[in-house]
Amino acid sequence: MKRAIISDIHGNLEALKAVLEDIDRQRVDAIFCLGDVVGYGPNPCECVKLVRDRCSMVLLGNHDQGALFDPDGFNVGAERAIRWTRTQLELHDRMPKHSADRLTDFLGELPRTHTEGDLLFVHGSARRPLEEYVFPEDIYNQLKMQHIFELVGRYCFQGHTHIPGIFTTSPEFLSPSVPKGESEVVMPLPREKAMVNVGSVGQPRDGDPRACYAILEDDARVRFRRIEYPFAETCRKIHAIADLDNFLGDRLGQGR
Ligand code: ZN
Repeated sequence: MKRAIISDIHGNLEALKAVLEDIDRQRVDAIFCLGDVVGYGPNPCECVKLVRDRCSMVLLGNHDQGALFDPDGFNVGAERAIRWTRTQLELHDRMPKHSADRLTDFLGELPRTHTEGDLLFVHGSARRPLEEYVFPEDIYNQLKMQHIFELVGRYCFQGHTHIPGIFTTSPEFLSPSVPKGESEVVMPLPREKAMVNVGSVGQPRDGDPRACYAILEDDARVRFRRIEYPFAETCRKIHAIADLDNFLGDRLGQGR
């Protein structure tokens, strides 16, 4: 079984299209999405439709939830982006021709976790699937890592921090930095438990502006792939929308 796992698209259509084209060349059996399809980016509706049509499993992210219900716990810029995103979804859904095809209905029915055998899929963490961050520096917080690992059968796949990598039980954080000009780093999964952050398609924050996603092969190794996309185009769109902070576009070129 070969699964492509994408996460944190954040309304970035250029990045999502580039990643889906790459996935098509990889001949995977299924595409999973770990949430945050919307929020921050200029094309929420288009991204929800593509994810709905292409992914066999989609989880709810905190930004998706914020766009559906009352946004809670976001900074000012993120909340303004979420309110703008909600308006876009509502404008789409209010059109009579979309009455049987409402994007808010699709988002509203998404699960928060998904389990297959000893594989767990969440947006944030096994402990708080929607909102808990597991950052690389959390390896120094033994108690936190221990508590979360207790809830993981074997491997947990997650997103939310936009920083790809593998957490081991030691605990250690293994970072897959893909050199310029190359497209992937292959990492074997530890024998014991692991948490795997698949990175972000639409807003990478590990210093590499290329879109990031992961391919899980035979439940034994993970290929972290980095895909170039025209981020200047996404940035231009963000700058043209008053409710989206210019910084949300500027950060794409820096991967932060
Ligand atoms: Zn996110």
